[in-house]
Amino acid sequence: MIEIRGLRKSFRDNVVLADVSLSVEAGSVTCLIGPSGSGKTTLLRCVNRLETIDAGILLVDGQLVGAERRRGRLVEARPGAIARSRTQTGMVFQRFNLFPHRTALENVMEGPVHVLRRPRGEVQAEAERLLERVGLAHKTDAYPQELSGGQQQRIAIARALAMQPKLLLFDEPTSALDPELVGEVLAVMKDLAAEGMTMLVVTHELGFAREAADQVVFMDGGVVVESGTPESVIGDPQQDRTRAFLSRVL
Ligand code: ADP
Repeated sequence: MIEIRGLRKSFRDNVVLADVSLSVEAGSVTCLIGPSGSGKTTLLRCVNRLETIDAGILLVDGQLVGAERRRGRLVEARPGAIARSRTQTGMVFQRFNLFPHRTALENVMEGPVHVLRRPRGEVQAEAERLLERVGLAHKTDAYPQELSGGQQQRIAIARALAMQPKLLLFDEPTSALDPELVGEVLAVMKDLAAEGMTMLVVTHELGFAREAADQVVFMDGGVVVESGTPESVIGDPQQDRTRAFLSRVL
């Protein structure tokens, strides 16, 4: 679903992604872990084309969405491919970014109605099912401010699902939540994983990574230091940098 080779990204002189290669299989869950500032969010934003890339190859669902170096020159992917991959890629942010003046149901319906231009009736029925799926069937008419952070984040997940994405990107989806609300969001994410959704998740929740990830990728200083199963990367890390990071957070 995602194939990244030799990805580089700098902000001015700051090399944020030095040479990142990574594959994500369809139907699998990959957790990106690593210290703050190691480039995890930037990598996610590159995958969703919220950032341009400086070099490398980025394929989403077989479509070239990044630049490719050919005979020393960067060749940008076709704009159509980028737009398509954007609608096929859902993103869930640390801050939920719901529309404050729209109800839970309206938030979930927004994308399919206004971006995909699908009929309201059909979209509403689907949105109600999605709210049920994230355990919020009883909150369809509530406004974001009336809901807890955990509930808002579950609505944000339902909103991402409403676009029927092939791939979901999560950027520290539980970092802004009070500790007692983290579990309900992780439970929804585990359900999605069990249903075969392809997910790339930046997270500090190593328990979630152990339980739900097929692949754990440890990044530090803009490179992938180590990747593999949770059992190997978290349970039996081979690199000193991985061990040092885990000893700080476990
Ligand atoms: P992580 O998610 O691992 O904490 P980030 O990808 O957020 O790391 O950030 C990596 C580095 O990139 C940091 O040094 C950060 O300051 C820098 N950075 C991220 N976004 C921008 C931006 N839009 N402009 C300039 N620097 C940025």
